[in-house]
Parts: sequence; C-alpha cells; structure tokens
Amino acid sequence: MQDFAYVRPRSMAEAVALLEQEDARVLSGGTDLLVQLREGRRRAQVVVDIKFLPEVTALRFDPASGLELGAAVPCWRIAGDPAISRTYPGLVDAVALVGGVQIQGRATVGGNLCNASPAGDTIPALIVHRAVCIIAGPGGWRELPVEDFCTGPGRNALARGELLVALRLPPPPAGFGAGYLRFIPRNEMDIAVVGAAAAVTLDERRECIASARVALGAVAPTPLPVPEVGTFLAGKAPSAENLAAAAEIARAAARPITDMRGGAAQRTHLAGVLARRALESAVRRASGGERDG
Ligand SMILES: Cc1cc2nc3c(=O)[nH]c(=O)nc-3n(C[C@H](O)[C@H](O)[C@H](O)COP(=O)(O)OP(=O)(O)OC[C@H]3O[C@@H](n4cnc5c(N)ncnc54)[C@H](O)[C@@H]3O)c2cc1C
Repeated sequence: MQDFAYVRPRSMAEAVALLEQEDARVLSGGTDLLVQLREGRRRAQVVVDIKFLPEVTALRFDPASGLELGAAVPCWRIAGDPAISRTYPGLVDAVALVGGVQIQGRATVGGNLCNASPAGDTIPALIVHRAVCIIAGPGGWRELPVEDFCTGPGRNALARGELLVALRLPPPPAGFGAGYLRFIPRNEMDIAVVGAAAAVTLDERRECIASARVALGAVAPTPLPVPEVGTFLAGKAPSAENLAAAAEIARAAARPITDMRGGAAQRTHLAGVLARRALESAVRRASGGERDG
C-alpha cells in the first residue's frame, strides 16, 4: 500500500480546500478507492475522508420534493428505508446488487457514481430516476444531471477541488414504476457483464405509456441512456410487442467491447434481453404490481 496522509475535514470549505491539492482524493466507503490504491491503479498523496460532514450523510425523503441522497450514505441505509424502496424501486434494485451485505455496509451510491465504471450498478438506475448531482467546489455549488457526469471509464466531470455532495431525485409522478437488473456469469459477487435500468410512467387510465426511460451499463465507455426508447414508447400501449420493439432499439444502441467478462456480440444480445425485462418490471410496478427482482 502506498503512503498517504489521511485527513478528516470539519467543514465543506475545508474539504474543498484539501481537494485543491495535487493527488488529493475523496474517501467515502473506500470499497473502490482502497483496492485501487493498494493495486497501484490510483495514486493519492492526501485522502480526504468526507464521511463526517453532515451535508454528505443526509438521507431525506419528502413525497413533495423527492429524495436527497447524501453522497456518503451507505447502500444499506437506502435499501432499508420502506418509503424510499416503494418510491425509487430501480435505485433499490441496484443498491441491493452492489457486492454483498458487508460491502453494502460501506459502499455508497456517490462512490459508485464518482468511480465512473461503465459497469457501476447504480448509475443506470440513477439516470432513469432523473437524478441530479449536487457538486461543491472552489467556485461554489453547481448541479449536473447524472447522465452527463461520467466522461469515460474511471473519469467524471468533477474539476480539481470539487466533490459530489448529494444526489437529488425528483418525486416520481403517479403511475410510475422502475427496475434494474444485470447479468453476471455466476451467482456470486461480480461486476455486471451488462446492466439495464428502465422507468415507465403510465397515463391516468394505466392504458398507455406517458413516458419511458432506459439506460444501459457495461455496453459503452460510460453508462448509456437510450432516449430513442422514450421517443418510441410515448403514447403507446405497454404491450409485449411494443416493449420488445423498444428493447430492440436499446440493443441497437449498445456499442460494447469484448473483454474477459464477455464478448461484444454476447453483450449486445444481453442488452436487448435485459432492456426488455427491465421495461416489463417497470410496467408491472407502474400498474401497481408487487416489487419484484
Ligand atoms: C467485493 C466487492 C464487490 C463489489 N461489487 C460491486 C457490484 O456488485 N456493483 C458495483 O457497481 N460495484 C461493486 N463494487 C465496487 C464498489 O463497492 C462500488 O463502486 C461502491 O459503490 C463504491 O462506493 P464507495 O463509497 O466505497 O467509494 P470509494 O471507494 O470511497 O470511492 C470511489 C471513487 O470515487 C471517489 N469519490 C467517492 N465519493 C466521492 C465524492 N463524494 N465526491 C467526489 N469523489 C468521490 C473516490 O475518490 C474514488 O475515486 C464492489 C467492490 C468490492 C470490493
């Protein structure tokens, strides 16, 4: 393990000042960072532990204003909250898949997003839930939609001195449902070969799709929103044929690579299968069905 200074700032201003230094890195749950430092995949001279700042540990849900999810809130707190589980089922599907129980005790959604892995499980779910990043930095505070946050494998839109403070998820409208699922080659902790999140809002009579969103993981350099799916499904019945045609649009948008986890052709095929299943799950939930996996 390389040597680094460990600092626990007492205020957001102090955290920002520390992060302006060369090779300073935020520590949240540490489940990515510590592994990367040990393996020499990242360098750090200063590690800034933000977990003791109230702004990043807040978890507030209000049916009128939505969810404020502090960047350093561990996954178990999200999945353990019944109101959040009911309201943001796609996000809860995703956090329940991150590692196992021990990892979920430390790992955060903010860390998953900032790590910017193309296969990060929570990122497609955040995108379909229309999450927005709240960012603090030397120039003040700014907001950025999650779909614009990842800029390449392991890279994100944060400038020097900036940190992710929280994610804000708007309250879903009536008739809303969402789901996330992934393919892994074995029934153990693993990284997604492909992941797919979908969100659907049905109209008042629950007969037509008012709006839909799909985002894919591990099929492009960054988690991939597929807005063409929403354009196709708007105003259509949530029939098996329409969902299958929408999944075909998602499949066509995938541009994966071949690596040790899977081939490009297999990933492209999986993108279609998982997009269809995620859409079916979202429609079931939007229709008032039970939360499923
Ligand atoms: C055994 C194991 C299993 C895993 N399984 C999965 C899995 O199934 N799915 C999955 O997606 N991931 C998985 N992971 C990866 C990891 O657990 C997740 O990505 C986790 O969500 C990272 O959160 P963290 O709080 O631990 O991040 P950290 O390790 O603390 O940080 C990750 C990166 O983001 C930066 N960062 C963190 N917070 C902020 C912030 N607020 N502002 C700016 N930068 C920040 C850090 O500097 C670092 O570069 C697994 C890891 C392990 C060790």
